[in-house]
Amino acid sequence: MHNFQYTRVKNTANAIAELGKDASAKLVAGGTNLIDLMKYGVMAPDKLIDINRLEFNDIKKDGNQLYIGSTVRNSVAAADQLVLQYQPLLSQAMLAGASPQLRNKATMGGNLLQRTRCPYFYDISAACNKRKPGTGCDAVGGFNRMHAIFGGSSSCIAVNPSDMNVALVALDAVIEVTGPKGKRSIPMADFHRLPGKNPELDSTLDKREVITGLVIPDNNFAKNTTYLKVRDRASYAFALVSVAVAMEMEGNVIKDIRLAMGGVAHKPWRLTAAENMLKGKAAVMENFKLAAEVAMKGAVAYGHNDFKLKMAPNSIIQALRTASGIKA
Ligand code: SF4
Repeated sequence: MHNFQYTRVKNTANAIAELGKDASAKLVAGGTNLIDLMKYGVMAPDKLIDINRLEFNDIKKDGNQLYIGSTVRNSVAAADQLVLQYQPLLSQAMLAGASPQLRNKATMGGNLLQRTRCPYFYDISAACNKRKPGTGCDAVGGFNRMHAIFGGSSSCIAVNPSDMNVALVALDAVIEVTGPKGKRSIPMADFHRLPGKNPELDSTLDKREVITGLVIPDNNFAKNTTYLKVRDRASYAFALVSVAVAMEMEGNVIKDIRLAMGGVAHKPWRLTAAENMLKGKAAVMENFKLAAEVAMKGAVAYGHNDFKLKMAPNSIIQALRTASGIKA
């Protein structure tokens, strides 16, 4: 393992200053992904900046939105009464991720930034443009069962591994960050990137910015939400395909809806066209099947992950059935 310095900071300004001193420096809080990557030799920062004392630990109702600090542990957020009351989809998604022990350590900010689980990314003898730009991609034409069916490029077909991120993009969350130029807010839909020619960049966060928290605007979805995760085993496995559904129902009619998928793209994948198709329509199987067809337009598989072309629409239909409560 590469030798590194460790420093603990007490405020955001110190964290930003430390990031500015060393281009390879990384922030660490729970460390549930970063430390693994360092052990594998995938990442080799010269300095770790511990931000556990920054105290972004609040979960609070802030006007018409729910605020969650970036160092709140995933297990704390998932069990929080405000989250359960106002944004239960987020709790469902977080409880589908990792294991209880990992959720006790992992933070909201860290979960936003967790890196892909593509096996070639973790194997330092493999060609991987994300780990080492310009070396190629062993997953294209290789073992790509877990890989993307939307938004991939010839440079990279990895997927974002987070369950939490799928719920956050469905709920129109906004990520709050602070950097050398001050504060800014990044809509969740713009926070993660598609690979394009620069798959080494997972997000639009600047290297010297610190995530301080996130906000989720109020909605009327609390009664009809579902996070469906299809995976190889019942616990502690990454999604082959996942679907987040949040609906506002008026009788049998879908007044409003948010839909997103995980395990299918380099970023949590919002299904806006399917949402628009379903708004104002009856919650019936016929419409759910049509929405799944719309959602799958443009999907491309790479061999081992061909099964996702069937699994994804079936999962969308099943998640819509569960969220709406229809029996047929
Ligand atoms: Fe690397 Fe992306 Fe290719 Fe996986 S899919 S080997 S992460 S470039």
